Amino acid sequence: MKIKFLGATQTVTGSRYLVEFGTSRVLIDCGLFQGYKNFREKNWAPFPVDPSTIDAVILTHAHIDHSGYIPRLVKNGFKGDVLATQATCDLSAIMLPDAGYLQEEEAAYANRKRFSKHKPALPLYTEDDAVKSLERFRAVDVRKTFRLESGLEITFTPAGHILGAASVRLQYENDSILFSGDLGRVNDAVMRAPESPESADIVVVESTYGNKRHALINPLDELRDVINRTVERGGIVLIPSFAVGRAQLLLYYIHQLKERGEIADVPVYLNSPMASKVNDVFMKHARETRLSLVEARAVCGTARIVRSQEESIHINELTSPMIVVAASGMATGGRILHHLKAFAGDPKNSVIFAGFQVGGTRGDLMVRGADEIKIHGQMWPVRAEVVDLESLSAHADADEVMQWLGRLKTPKQVFVTHGELPASDALRLRIESTLGWRARVPDLLETVEF
Ligand SMILES: [Zn+2]
Repeated sequence: MKIKFLGATQTVTGSRYLVEFGTSRVLIDCGLFQGYKNFREKNWAPFPVDPSTIDAVILTHAHIDHSGYIPRLVKNGFKGDVLATQATCDLSAIMLPDAGYLQEEEAAYANRKRFSKHKPALPLYTEDDAVKSLERFRAVDVRKTFRLESGLEITFTPAGHILGAASVRLQYENDSILFSGDLGRVNDAVMRAPESPESADIVVVESTYGNKRHALINPLDELRDVINRTVERGGIVLIPSFAVGRAQLLLYYIHQLKERGEIADVPVYLNSPMASKVNDVFMKHARETRLSLVEARAVCGTARIVRSQEESIHINELTSPMIVVAASGMATGGRILHHLKAFAGDPKNSVIFAGFQVGGTRGDLMVRGADEIKIHGQMWPVRAEVVDLESLSAHADADEVMQWLGRLKTPKQVFVTHGELPASDALRLRIESTLGWRARVPDLLETVEF
């Protein structure tokens, strides 16, 4: 067995691992790099292995940092299947074309305003490319082992985090390897706790919060206080959010706060052309969550959905208190950028970040107190109150990852990935000292053979 780390080493983005067993070659996740420029530039570099030689992509979940390179891989010659849970297939069918559309839109905007250093600015792939790549997706059941022609056995186990998210275990003859994928929280209000997969010789575990323990405060109270403070000032609450997962949790909390009369009944907008489709998927798979269908429906009905660009622009002209949820969650792109230009400069308003902020993203800069940010080639002031609601994160903290690991039998080796170096290294140390297992943080492009 050979494993090559093609991404998500010493960073949380660009998840891609190549595994070779016998004659079989599979890619676990196929994500985009985000954040610091030297990482983003890797999206444009030639793929380190010829895509036509990869038999299958095994996708842990639909987030773009795990799936967003698939259209480019297909465009460059990948001919195999993309294996994923049904919910991941359903979400990818919305998110990948949206990612293509956004890239086309951003390239066109950059060319129109001439702020890109690249002339002309090009999308990594188009909406069309993304739609074509969906033909390669095949849905698989969770908790059931299935076998590829090559003899490779694959098992998906629910991992919490977002709808459809799974850990993946591969076995070929006597060798086995387990990828945690992104692990969810044990007590998330919407998603169930990650389940325990079967043990394996090699374990590759995520470490987004490898050096952190989530605060014990109730995120609902924190969210209520920020909303109330902002509304009292006559301000607007902006929430950059992934359209999938975090948006539903936020809407669930906002719905609860309104029901209990703990916040004013201000308008709530979910500004995403794909929001209503995501809501449909959310209801279709509501049984995977902790919510009843009635609750799921109420959550989806909490916000007015903003579809067109005209409506989105119109929001920027509104002046009375409201809550606007828009992608992307780290303000790296999407409609939130236009709202930040309109609202971040006013101290009455607030901007709430509700998940992990990758180093180098606008979200990371704002959380760390930047008083201006660059959007579309120009500097924009930040005077609004910026709040980091990390307790809303969809990722397990270090204790929760240790709990998940602690239920496995001792592996031969653990690789700690999907974390910035201080987080990955802290988790590595903890695995070695408390579990007594061999653990290592791999280097990018490193190949390990067993
Ligand atoms: Zn994720």
